[in-house]
Amino acid sequence: MAHRVTLIPGDGVGPEITRAACRVIDSVLPVEWEVVEAGEAVIPEYGNPLPDYVLESVKKNKVALKGPLTTPVGKGFRSVNVTLRQELDLYANVRPARNLPGISTRYDGVDLIVVRENTEDLYAGIEHRVGRDAAESIKIITREASTRIARFAFELARRQGRKKVTAVHKANIMKLSDGLFLECARQVAESYPDIIFEDMIVDAMCMKLVQSPENYDVLVLPNLYGDIVSDLCAGLVGGLGVAPGANIGDAAAVFEPVHGSAPKHAGRNKVNPLAVILSGVLMLQHLGEVEAAGCIMRAVEQVLAEKTHLTYDLGGTAGTDEMSAAVIAAIPR
Ligand code: NAD
Repeated sequence: MAHRVTLIPGDGVGPEITRAACRVIDSVLPVEWEVVEAGEAVIPEYGNPLPDYVLESVKKNKVALKGPLTTPVGKGFRSVNVTLRQELDLYANVRPARNLPGISTRYDGVDLIVVRENTEDLYAGIEHRVGRDAAESIKIITREASTRIARFAFELARRQGRKKVTAVHKANIMKLSDGLFLECARQVAESYPDIIFEDMIVDAMCMKLVQSPENYDVLVLPNLYGDIVSDLCAGLVGGLGVAPGANIGDAAAVFEPVHGSAPKHAGRNKVNPLAVILSGVLMLQHLGEVEAAGCIMRAVEQVLAEKTHLTYDLGGTAGTDEMSAAVIAAIPR
């Protein structure tokens, strides 16, 4: 029976890259896509960028593939991406970053997984103005969420045969909030004696990642540091065009690229579809379709290694459609 998956095309470049990814996935196994729109475009009709039907669809199907959604800067509605993660309690944001064949970067041997807490920290969205000339934003760190994400990171490490988990924090300055995050990570680590545990202050982590990323394995971070460090890690292995992501909870999972809606490229058949195609690979793995996931992964690696159908960000001149067609052509029949 075909899997039923919610498809949120997103806006900006979202519709063209998710269309490309669906074609690739459809070429290896049947999926029934339930398409639901969200974002600014649906506000006039529903009065809300994240109407209930989107949440209901993901809750029902339990799995979604999502394109990026634009969030206005400094004004307008609350981020749909953040709200979706909080409403569905998608507490673990998983962003792998590893070297891919054919993409030359400054680093070899990078094979990292960033595990970012996805529901609290400064992204809780509790902020207010204090008079005209000040503003306050509240950072929430709880024992429950910190323990849950640390356990998720260790379980993932164990499942994937990984050797080390590094907890990233700023507990030297934020002794109570980041201190609690670190305390929880340390406690969880005691139950995983087979996995090395270390902790690192976030600024030192950034420096170490650009000096010797091959020394790191699984990183676990509170929400804000996780957001920033995962983009840094994407930069180590070829940029946002090849950086997939997953938002995982106990009841549902939403797969989406790390990058945003890149509005300046929207509708130009220009951007790299691989980040969303690789998010589709993570989705298929999550669905237990390991063979189909492997098929797409090998096809992606072949296209990258051949270097003849690459988008601009990887030094080529191919468009979104040409690159995804090359991936489909590389899938063995
Ligand atoms: P962006 O990721 O959209 O773009 C940053 C840069 O990366 C741009 O120069 C763009 O050209 C390049 N880029 C992005 N995706 C690419 C791809 N697939 N192939 C090649 N190049 C690519 O970041 P931004 O400009 O800061 O954000 C634009 C909008 O996206 C904002 O409204 C932001 O809030 C939103 N956003 C959404 C999500 C999400 O939906 N999960 C994530 C991040 C940002």
